[in-house]
Amino acid sequence: MNKWEDNIRKVVPYVAGEQPIGTDIIKLNTNENPYPPAPGVEKLSREIDSSRFSLYPDADAVALVDALTAYHGLQPGQLFVGVGSDDVLALAFLTFFNSKKPILFPDITYSFYPVWSDVYQIPYETIPVDADFKVNPADYARENGGVVIANPNAPTSIAMGLDQVETIIQENPDVIVIIDEAYVDFGGETALPLLDKYENLLVVRTYSKSRSMAGMRIGYAMANTRLIQAMKDVKESINSYTMNMASIILGAESVKDDGYFKNRIAQVVATRERVKEALTQMDFDVKDSATNFLFAGHSNIPAKYIFEQLRQKKIFVRYFDKPRINNYLRITIGTDKQMDTVLKAIDECIKNYEN
Ligand SMILES: *Cc1c(COP(=O)(O)O)cnc(C)c1O
Repeated sequence: MNKWEDNIRKVVPYVAGEQPIGTDIIKLNTNENPYPPAPGVEKLSREIDSSRFSLYPDADAVALVDALTAYHGLQPGQLFVGVGSDDVLALAFLTFFNSKKPILFPDITYSFYPVWSDVYQIPYETIPVDADFKVNPADYARENGGVVIANPNAPTSIAMGLDQVETIIQENPDVIVIIDEAYVDFGGETALPLLDKYENLLVVRTYSKSRSMAGMRIGYAMANTRLIQAMKDVKESINSYTMNMASIILGAESVKDDGYFKNRIAQVVATRERVKEALTQMDFDVKDSATNFLFAGHSNIPAKYIFEQLRQKKIFVRYFDKPRINNYLRITIGTDKQMDTVLKAIDECIKNYEN
């Protein structure tokens, strides 16, 4: 073996949902929004002046930061933007989790958390969610180097109340607590009101799910100015120009049309509840979802079987071959028409299995 092998950083990467190509597929495996972004975004995207591509973008992404700061009613300096919330979360791990004590997160949660911990050599401990996949705040009252909680959680779709989130923060005054709110717009309770009360809280959001802009790669973090400055310092130590020009312009435009945003979310939520009811009728255990996906397991048909059958019909959902959750499917909510096709396919699948 070559000596240089020893110097290579070895990591087991995160595995993203498959991105199949084709027009006749139904893609419900990475929690994207089935609807397009606001009409204003579409219009502005056509008007972008490509001659400006020769220049570096604004390193501070001021137009986007200002639009989001105003939208959330924050003070200047309380918001940090990045290339999707994965970029923001990775940078937050690097910035805030520098203790020798392990950071804590649930055993069933966003599977990128252990990956960032490994790549940055941050020790971590996972805390089991209960038998109903619920996070118990009392479990986080112990020595640690930081806490990260997705609320609503993924892939379980289950939300925690604000009082429970506050309990976790209260129990952990000496470390940074990150609340990943990727799905909060679909029915969760945001921790933003707690920012004034707790200086160790960081709330992270994304444009990828509720804002229908996964392809633009925009995420952001909100906290007090001290935490945001610390993140900016680390970012400026790696790459000044993370945000591209189009994302800055179109991201700022997206928040202008709140009516469109709320209507589309209401549509996804209505479809979600209808599909939840239909799956329950078909003998699935479906968790109460505060997200744009459902976490569902059938009473006697293995999730893996359903996953494979759907895949053959070019319907892509997510299956995790992991302990505790290997009998569940994570199904993104698509349009009503897509979901009708999915329900019909699942019904056929159940019939095939039983014969
Ligand atoms: C989708 C997701 C993210 C990352 O989204 P980006 O596309 O990188 O913004 C982060 N956290 C959770 C829990 C997610 O489900």
